Order: sequence, then structure tokens, then C-alpha cells
Amino acid sequence: MRIKLWGARGSLPSPHAPELIRNGIRELFEGFFECGHQSRKDIDRYMSDLPRHLFGGFGGNTACIEVRSSEQQLIIDGGSGIRPLGYEMMAGPCGKGSGEVHIFFTHFHWDHLVGLPFFVPIFIPGNRIHVYSVQPGLQDVFQTVFRKPFFPVPLESLGSRIEYHILEPRKPRRVGDLTLTPYELDHPDPCWGFRIEKDGKVFSHCVDTECVRVSREQLGPDLPLYQGVDLMIFDAQYTLMETIEKVNWGHAAASLGIDIAMRERVKQVIFMHHDPASSDSKIAAAEAQARQYYKSQLRAAERAGVKAHEVEWSFGYEGMTVDL
Ligand SMILES: [Zn+2]
Ligand SMILES: [Zn+2]
Repeated sequence: MRIKLWGARGSLPSPHAPELIRNGIRELFEGFFECGHQSRKDIDRYMSDLPRHLFGGFGGNTACIEVRSSEQQLIIDGGSGIRPLGYEMMAGPCGKGSGEVHIFFTHFHWDHLVGLPFFVPIFIPGNRIHVYSVQPGLQDVFQTVFRKPFFPVPLESLGSRIEYHILEPRKPRRVGDLTLTPYELDHPDPCWGFRIEKDGKVFSHCVDTECVRVSREQLGPDLPLYQGVDLMIFDAQYTLMETIEKVNWGHAAASLGIDIAMRERVKQVIFMHHDPASSDSKIAAAEAQARQYYKSQLRAAERAGVKAHEVEWSFGYEGMTVDL
């Protein structure tokens, strides 16, 4: 499986203001000369050493994840990241009206739907767009998104054929060579995470969640979402302090994902759904704080004479891809 993040931001698309970009470029120039560089040939070396928050950042598009195997493609959520994904898909069967698209919705908050009216394959006659959710009312959601006065093209005139599929909680669903099972997350409106499996490899998508149920007992029937996992994408909208201020807002901090990953022996974790109010520098600071937390957990285990499970983890960014 190849997993690609087309949108890593939460809540609202968050483009950089021109002023911020200008200031950032100015800082980079200053840094270049402060490092003692003078010539063009130093540019590549200087750029490759720059941290993500100073050069490129984490991206501003909202939730959209692509899962690809040798024969199948799945999309999770239709946030604004689905717009550039749609352009890429137009180079394949979708551009010829013979595309078969599968979009799974975790829930229907705007940041997970807002890209749908700009997903070009949906307008091409002949394409079949399969949409899935555990929540009933998926068709009503599409009727609301594609309706005047919110959008000029009503659902009936889209071109493609939309087929609605309701998933059963905790029941595997096979799509091509991929098997997907929904498990419930903790969010103010019902929200479902997905465990996706192929040939013994497991990808687990856990966004949006506050994960108020942490212990194995509390997670109960939803525990398999976190067990035997090769890659987990987890909600880290907030810093640890912010999760205390924003109880019941439905999002977590990286430290919570780290705890679960260490306990359940998850191999790799990517954190996303970054807060739209957070600058790239603030997200990088939250990542550094989480790094401190992770190291302190490793040290605590060592002091207790326990061999802690080491997790490979990082904060995700738009365009990031992971091969399993
Ligand atoms: Zn969200
Ligand atoms: Zn949400």
C-alpha cells in the first residue's frame, strides 16, 4: 500500500498570507548569508538543511488521504485536498469517463466535505463515484453540498453516477484487493476510523478523534483499530495544554497517540489535522514538545526496567507519502 496525504490540516483550509510568505523568504535570505554562504552552488545545500516549518511547511488543505495498492485506489474524506488529487486522477480513466472512484467518509464536518464540489472527476459523464459511510444520510449530505444557493450545480446535473454505500460498524468491507473495517472514534458527532489491510500490512486512520477512551477496556470493540498496525494516522490538532482547554472539541494531542502506539506496538505514526490557527512554526514547536514527551516515556520505561516499544513517528504534511 502507498498512503499519501493530500490534506493534513484540520477544520478549515489555511493558505499562507502573502505577508507571511514574504517575511519567510526574507528570513531565508538572511539565514543564507548568516551561514556564510555567498555563491549559487551553496543554495541546494542550504535548502536541504532547512527545517520543514521554514521551508514548505505542513500545507493548508484539509483532510484527504489516498490509499493505493497495485490494483485499487481508495480515498478517505473529501476535504480541500481532494481538489489536487482530482486533477491528478483526470490523467487516468477519470479523464475519459471510465473512472471508478471510491471515497470513504469518516464523518460529515465541513473540513471533510469542502473539496467535493471541486473534485473534477465528479463532473465527467461515465465516471462512477462510490461513496461510503457508516452514518446513514450520506445521500442527504450530497444533496446539501450540491444544492443552490450553496453551489450552482445540483446533484442531478453532476455528470458522473454517484452510488451510495452504507458500511456496517466493525464489519470488513472488501474493495478490490483492500479490506476496510470501520471502528468508532471519539468526536462530537459520530466519526469512524478505518483499518485498511492488504497482504498482512495494516494502515489505520484515526482522525478526527479526541480519543477519550484510551485503555483497552474503554476501547472495547474498537481496540482492533490500534492493534497490529504498521502505520497509524492520528489526530494531533492541539498541543497537550490545548487539549485541556478544549475538552469536548473532538481532537487530540500527539502525546496521546504516542502512548497508544507504544502500548499497542504500532510501528509508525503520522500526526495530522493540524489546527488552522497554528503557524508552521507552532506546529514544529508542538512536534518538538511531543519529541520531549516521547523521550521521557522511553526514559521512564528504562528506569522501571521495562523494554519500551520504540515508535517511528512524525508530524505529517501535505504531499507526504508512505509505502507499506
Ligand atoms: Zn476534521
Ligand atoms: Zn470533525
